[in-house]
Amino acid sequence: MDQKIYTSGSEVEPGTYKCTRCGNEIKIDKKSKLPKCARCGNDKWHKIA
Ligand SMILES: [Zn+2]
Repeated sequence: MDQKIYTSGSEVEPGTYKCTRCGNEIKIDKKSKLPKCARCGNDKWHKIA
């Protein structure tokens, strides 16, 4: 399992990302910059799919 940390503002491949703090999941449809977590404001993500 890939436990690399992705930071908001960095450009990432499409997929599902999970907030490392609150577990909120977001879907990225196309290559784009990661937002901050809308729920807790955290800027660190794991890619889960
Ligand atoms: Zn969060």
